[in-house]
Amino acid sequence: MSLLEDVKKLEAEVLERIGQADSLESLKDCRVRYLGRKGPLAQILRGLGKLSPEERKETGAAANKIRASLESNFDEAAGRFTVREQKAAFDPTLPGTAQPIGTRHIINQVMGQMCHTFHGMGFEVAYGPHVETDYYNFEALNFPPDHPARDMQDTFFVEGGRVLRTHTTPVQARELEKRTPPIKMITPGKTFRNEAISTRAHVSFHQVDGFLVDEGVSMADLKGCLVAFCKSFFGEELKLKFRPSFFPFTEPSAEVDISCILCKGKGCQLCKYSGWLEILGCGMIHPNVLENAGMDSEKYTGYAFGIGVERIAMLKYKIKDIRLFFNNNARFLRQFF
Ligand SMILES: [Zn+2]
Repeated sequence: MSLLEDVKKLEAEVLERIGQADSLESLKDCRVRYLGRKGPLAQILRGLGKLSPEERKETGAAANKIRASLESNFDEAAGRFTVREQKAAFDPTLPGTAQPIGTRHIINQVMGQMCHTFHGMGFEVAYGPHVETDYYNFEALNFPPDHPARDMQDTFFVEGGRVLRTHTTPVQARELEKRTPPIKMITPGKTFRNEAISTRAHVSFHQVDGFLVDEGVSMADLKGCLVAFCKSFFGEELKLKFRPSFFPFTEPSAEVDISCILCKGKGCQLCKYSGWLEILGCGMIHPNVLENAGMDSEKYTGYAFGIGVERIAMLKYKIKDIRLFFNNNARFLRQFF
């Protein structure tokens, strides 16, 4: 029998063994046994040296072809076993890989907590449009046309003389027109100012404004409400300080400082060593605002306040840069899951 016939006979035997292999392991063994350096194919091919040069060339080429074909047969069979074993290894009772789920944005969370606190104090919630008329954003709130107080709020103007609301107080003007006292509401939402973006200012931010109108409402009611809110948000030991200020829609007006939540009033970097942090603006609703809404300002009085949500979130979570809220950096946002 010629060498080539030996190789062909061996090929048939190997193909049969490949067909009989019942696992990846037995297939690997079979491959090593037949095609390895000490296997029968190698032994047969060692006989090539005894052939004439022509025979050697012809037989060698044919044997190499058979060898390559067997190798690819082994590879193909191994591939089938790998898939089958992977399928067999799949255990549907194992816990799956958890997919990250989204969550509410930190500003949304803080605004929700603020609304929840005020809701618990008896405030209803009202919303209004982002694009507002000049009347509701300014005039109804006692900013007459060309009044210098309008410069306090750098405004984005849009088509048709409308503005992007610079505060959520216009919702107060809208609700005052619709309702009769007692009215106790908060108006949370997005506001817009044409300001240079910095660590402390942004063109868009959020406010929770609130107001109460009834007979005989006084500054003491306002103080009681804000003390209760601030303590529930930052802790019972908190101190509040009311400083005289100016807003067109309140008279008298005040700004409220809280004792520094970090140093408790001793002085630190956060409070610029003053021991106090500015937190909100407030006051008694200006009689003109009530009259503009068709209300008798002799009979009714009211208070109003406005709180910046970003300011509260920055204090609560010791965040130093307002821009972090709007950069959509998942590594920052994920901290507040
Ligand atoms: Zn401090």
